[in-house]
Amino acid sequence: MPVLPVHVLVLGGTTEARRLAESLAGDRHVRVTTSLAGRVSAPRLPPGDVRVGGFGGPDGLAAWVREHGVDALVDATHPFASTMSRNAAEAAAQAHVPLLALRRPGWVAQDGDRWHSAGSLAEAAGLLPALGERVFLTTGRMGLAAFAGAGLDELWFLVRSVDAPEPPCPARMEVLLDRGPFTLEGEREIIRHHRLDVLVTKDSGGDATAPKLTAAREARIPVVVVRRPPVPEGVPVARTPDEAVRWVRRLYAEGSGDAGASG
Ligand code: NAP
Repeated sequence: MPVLPVHVLVLGGTTEARRLAESLAGDRHVRVTTSLAGRVSAPRLPPGDVRVGGFGGPDGLAAWVREHGVDALVDATHPFASTMSRNAAEAAAQAHVPLLALRRPGWVAQDGDRWHSAGSLAEAAGLLPALGERVFLTTGRMGLAAFAGAGLDELWFLVRSVDAPEPPCPARMEVLLDRGPFTLEGEREIIRHHRLDVLVTKDSGGDATAPKLTAAREARIPVVVVRRPPVPEGVPVARTPDEAVRWVRRLYAEGSGDAGASG
C-alpha cells in the first residue's frame, strides 16, 4: 500500500490537467505535482507543486519519479503530444509506477460538416490545394513547416497560435496570437472578415476550441481534421478529470500499486 499522501505526477499542458490538479489538491490523501513543458509564456498555473521543463527523455523522467517518491503518473498532455506520452509509458515501466492517460474525447462530425481526415500535418497540407485558397490554420505554432512547401505558394494562411511561430512558415500568412476558449461569434467573424474558405485543425476535442467547427459548418467551408496519434499500448485511458480522480483514489483505497483500466 502506498504511504499516504500518495504523490501523483500529472504531465500537464491541458485544461484537463489543470482540472485534475485542482481536484487532487483538495484531497488530503494526495500530494500533486504538475509538470509543464515550458513552451507557453505565462501559462495558467494549477494548484499543488509545479515543475517546468523537459526531463531529458524517458530515463530522465523515470529518475525524477524515483527521486521524488512519485507513486502514480497521469499523462494529461495534449492528445498530440505523442513523444511525451511514449516517454511516460516507458518511464512508468522503468520506475514500476502505475500510469493513466487522461484524454478528452475527440470531436465527432455532425450533419452539414464537410470534414476531410488526415493522418498528419503533411497529409493535411497535401489536401489543401483542392479545397480552398484562404486557410484558417489552427494546428498550433509547431509543425508549420508542413505548410511551407512550394506546392502551397498560391495559398494564403491565417495562422492562429498562442505564441508567435518561428520559420519555416507558410510563404503568405498572417499570424493571429490568441489562446482559447474561443466564442462562436468570434470564430464566425474571423471566417467572414478574412474570407477564409478552408479550416485546418487537429482533432483536439473539448469545448474550448470547438466553436470554429460550428462556424465552419455554418459557413459551409471544408475542414481538414488531423487524426490523433494512438495512446501507447497497454496504457489505461480516462476520458474526464473525474475519472482520473477515481483512478487515483482507487490507488490508495485498494492499497494496490496498479489501479488498472479506468472506464
Ligand atoms: P511532445 O512533442 O510530446 O514532447 C516533446 C518534449 O517536450 C518531451 O520529450 C519532453 O521533453 C517535453 N515535454 C512535453 N510535455 C511535457 C510536460 N508536460 N512536462 C515536461 N516536459 C514535457 O510535446 P508537444 O507536442 O511539444 O507539447 C508540449 C506541451 O504542450 C505538452 O505539455 C502538451 O500537453 C502541450 N500542448 C501540446 C499541444 C499539441 O498540439 N501538441 C497543444 C496544446 C498543448 P523531455 O524528453 O526532455 O522530457
